[in-house]
Amino acid sequence: MVKRQNHKQIETVNVTAKTTNATCTKAGQTVYTSAAFKNTAFKVQTKTVAIKATGHKFSAWKTTSFNVDKKTATQTRKCTRGDKTETQTVNNAVVRFAGSNRAETGTLISAGMYKTANTVIIATGFDFHDALAAVPLASAYNAPLLLADRDNLSAKTLAEIKRLKAKNVIVVATTNAKDLNGNDAAIKSNVYNQLKELKVKVTKLDGKTYYETAKKVADALGKKKAAPTSVFITTDKNYADALSASPVAAILGAPILYVDPKASLNATTKNYLASIKKSVKNVYIVGGVNAVSASVEKAILNTLGKKSATRFAGDNRYDTCVLINKSFAKNLTGKSVCIAKGYNFPDALAGGVLAAKNKAPLFLADAIGGKAQLSKTQSSYLNSKNPSKLYIFGGETAVPTALVKTVAKASV
Ligand SMILES: [Zn+2]
Repeated sequence: MVKRQNHKQIETVNVTAKTTNATCTKAGQTVYTSAAFKNTAFKVQTKTVAIKATGHKFSAWKTTSFNVDKKTATQTRKCTRGDKTETQTVNNAVVRFAGSNRAETGTLISAGMYKTANTVIIATGFDFHDALAAVPLASAYNAPLLLADRDNLSAKTLAEIKRLKAKNVIVVATTNAKDLNGNDAAIKSNVYNQLKELKVKVTKLDGKTYYETAKKVADALGKKKAAPTSVFITTDKNYADALSASPVAAILGAPILYVDPKASLNATTKNYLASIKKSVKNVYIVGGVNAVSASVEKAILNTLGKKSATRFAGDNRYDTCVLINKSFAKNLTGKSVCIAKGYNFPDALAGGVLAAKNKAPLFLADAIGGKAQLSKTQSSYLNSKNPSKLYIFGGETAVPTALVKTVAKASV
């Protein structure tokens, strides 16, 4: 028997490749084809390698319209190849917190933020100083800011403290607090009796002056968080400019302090500033020279050993609001915008804590003379922000639906 011999012949030829690219939805392929072989025993060879469909590559969802009445938002996203656009409807895109009074609105905002909270902050709802200073402290404690009535805590506020299962209550209360009409707005002993019944631990941050209380709040904030690297200074005469600074101050863990526009820098604020000289890098002054005078600014900088401050002073409260929110855009990275009345403070301050939690700007707007209009500055800010959610602090009289619709329209 003759053994069959193993015979191998190898011939190398060039191969050409032809690729059909995959698209988002269709597979592609590469077909490799050999050139003809010299050895006629070899046939031309081909090999097909499949390329998977890439799938769509979508950009982020963009809100294209709000339906304020239905509380929804419509969003779209496009494939970067331009072959597909998707649309979705988002529910609860417009959320309004509206109680029958300021204290109740505060409890609704609290309920919208927390299932439980160890700590609750309380300040009077009838004067802005203590509540404004308290916003960063509330944020530091993950606590809501609840507002006291003139003589007591309302039944709804007490119920909210219980619902939260709070163990600690910090009462921020200047002893001679007055409302803007000069009427007594101090927290009454009755409030402390009510808290005693709730069996919570009560801490009082009280001063004889707004300066003292703000200093005590600032000290408590520094203890809870860290020595502040930023500080906000505003007038003790008006809340207009400072409202929109409250969420930003809260996010930065920065205290809010008061000065008298017509006097020299008060000793309490000065002493506090001296105590944070080492940690502070940024000094923010809220309001024009009628709010914080040039000489007070100089005294502040001297005390802190700083060369300059950043001053936020627009033509009006709405301009100042936009200025502040634009300046801190890198801190306000949330997808929502919080809307509050610019001509009152309680809703904006209770809401400031929610804004800070959502890293959202507090946007002040009013329907002046019944007209739900926005300035160009306001509209263009909203447009650039393009929020996917709107929070509204206060009821129909505070922020009318027509105004919310104007804001919603400007936001897309
Ligand atoms: Zn695509």
